[in-house]
Amino acid sequence: MRRKIVAGNWKMNTLLPEGEVLVKQLEFLTEELESDVEIIIAPPFTHLAVLGKYIKETKMKIALAAQNCADQEKGAFTGEVSAAMLRNLGCKFVILGHSERREYYAENNESLYKKINLVINEGMQPIFCVGEKLEERQANRHFEVVAQQIKDVLYRLRGVELDNVIVAYEPVWAIGTGMTATSDQAEEMHAYIRRVIGDKFGEHADRIPILYGGSCKPSNASEIFSKSNVDGGLIGGASLDAQDFVAIVKSF
Ligand code: PEP
Repeated sequence: MRRKIVAGNWKMNTLLPEGEVLVKQLEFLTEELESDVEIIIAPPFTHLAVLGKYIKETKMKIALAAQNCADQEKGAFTGEVSAAMLRNLGCKFVILGHSERREYYAENNESLYKKINLVINEGMQPIFCVGEKLEERQANRHFEVVAQQIKDVLYRLRGVELDNVIVAYEPVWAIGTGMTATSDQAEEMHAYIRRVIGDKFGEHADRIPILYGGSCKPSNASEIFSKSNVDGGLIGGASLDAQDFVAIVKSF
């Protein structure tokens, strides 16, 4: 039985007071929730200290994630935030390799490999994003592209390290576009990702949670989550609405 996970990526949205309201709404909506789904939120860096403290004090059943971290441990890296700093604020997870970071901030596999190691060494879990662009899917290269992303980064880990990783399959053409992959497209890719991981890591692949991300919302979540290789979702836009986000959690 694999873990079930729904993670909300707030991206660069909300001012801190708005983030506080959103967390209080989530607290209210999840108070009575009896669920085996792990709920994660990834607010902006600037919110983590305050929201981390609130989550800890109220014992909310929601875990905190960051959206990125530095690829260096510490030192003269102006503007960067280290994995240790995030751990210290109560983060349990760090999203790494999101397509927006690969696309707009030239995130590369070498840097991602360093980040994954730093996050794991701090006792946190990376949520490692992979996914193809529209032109790559149209050229029927989507399997090849995703396999390469996995090989370039995850294949360099040891099996025990891989056990801390969560993979998020996020077709770039589905992120923030309203175009969702069909549940069959998602299942096909998730099964493929598990096979690629299994080729190197054997049975570790059976345990790794693989989340789907890309315009996931209450109306399509249950169909997507019903697939056997889909272990949850990485939710962007819909995670900014507490009702929608919790409705997605309840879709399992
Ligand atoms: C994301 O950015 O991780 C994402 C899945 O966004 P959205 O749900 O808005 O498509």
